Amino acid sequence: MEPILKIKNIEKYYGNKSNLTKALNHLSLEVYKGEFVAIMGASGSGKTTLSKILLKLIDGYSGEVVVNGIELEEISERSYREQCAAVSQKVFLFNDTIYNNIVYGMTNVTLEHYERAIRLSGLDVVLRLLPDGEKTIVGENGSILSGGEKQKVSIARALLKNASVIVLDEPSNNLDKESQFELKKVLKGISCEKIVIVIDHNDVFEDVATSIITL
Ligand code: ADP
Repeated sequence: MEPILKIKNIEKYYGNKSNLTKALNHLSLEVYKGEFVAIMGASGSGKTTLSKILLKLIDGYSGEVVVNGIELEEISERSYREQCAAVSQKVFLFNDTIYNNIVYGMTNVTLEHYERAIRLSGLDVVLRLLPDGEKTIVGENGSILSGGEKQKVSIARALLKNASVIVLDEPSNNLDKESQFELKKVLKGISCEKIVIVIDHNDVFEDVATSIITL
């Protein structure tokens, strides 16, 4: 079986010749379908750099990142957005209904897929507590939703897209213990069909991850 994501010997430096900072040091990693990878490390260890590389937000590194058999640098940004989804508490939301925010930009969303994404992301519980449910207007950039609820919207979107890799950068930030516990359950549930990569300075995901990489 081929890994869905292969990172081979990547190194990343910032700065110029007279003042180089090494951000990633010969990192290699192979991730297969169904894996839940937790990437941990102290501040300055390169977590943000790695998440930016995985989300194709920066280049200029040495080594290889191969996704579904294709070198990341060869994949167009647009096609990569379909393969890899970023989940964030700061997801951009329109001042529209929760439903429209979830399905935005997607075609052929079936009710079955939508309901499944709502359930797996844990949004079903949130929607049940809102009088207007999925028809609730979220306000300017989702102002009526908490960070954790926006994260769930972001997970539901990622599930509806046909992404094979889901990357979460510092997902446990600003979540209380109960929400962290809930998030772990949600991520564990979706990791059987997606690759889940969590980059976090906290060790909250240590017990559910199938592999742990310390930078
Ligand atoms: P973390 O997210 O684990 O805190 P980062 O990836 O942000 O780590 O940073 C790794 C190293 O690279 C640190 O030494 C940091 O100072 C340096 N670094 C990060 N971004 C830049 C940048 N834009 N310019 C110069 N150095 C940077």
